[in-house]
Amino acid sequence: MSEVQKKKFVLSRLSLSRLEGVHPDLVKVVKRAIEITLQDFLVVEGIRTEEQCYINYGKGRTWEQCTAKGVPAKYAQPKLAKVTWLTNPLSSKHVTGKAVDLVPYPVDWNDLSKFNQVAQAMFAAAKELGVSIRWGADWDNDGKYREKGEYDSPHFEI
Ligand SMILES: [Zn+2]
Repeated sequence: MSEVQKKKFVLSRLSLSRLEGVHPDLVKVVKRAIEITLQDFLVVEGIRTEEQCYINYGKGRTWEQCTAKGVPAKYAQPKLAKVTWLTNPLSSKHVTGKAVDLVPYPVDWNDLSKFNQVAQAMFAAAKELGVSIRWGADWDNDGKYREKGEYDSPHFEI
């Protein structure tokens, strides 16, 4: 028996359900990534509805800022922390099924090294399958993680 046995991870039923409607190339990459990853992860979001985009955009913004971008005023929640920096509230690739958000499991938002491990598996899987992906913690793919504007460690898109 080999001394180092890689732990096997599988996508939970919930994670699989969140891949419904996501572009098949990206689904393939996620499914391969879970097989090779050293860090278990779950899918927290795939397809995002318009309403969810509005909810996200409203966080940390006033009604004036919302309505200026066509987001109904009722979604404004200026006291909450901002979660999106999109110029156009609806331009997220989640709307078209070309993005997924993955979070290390057990969930720990503070340990960024675990997000890096998930990314490593995603990039290895993408390469193997010939799919080109971008990661929200390294948009320009220069290997320098979390430069200015690269705040979205869970986010992968095609
Ligand atoms: Zn995302």
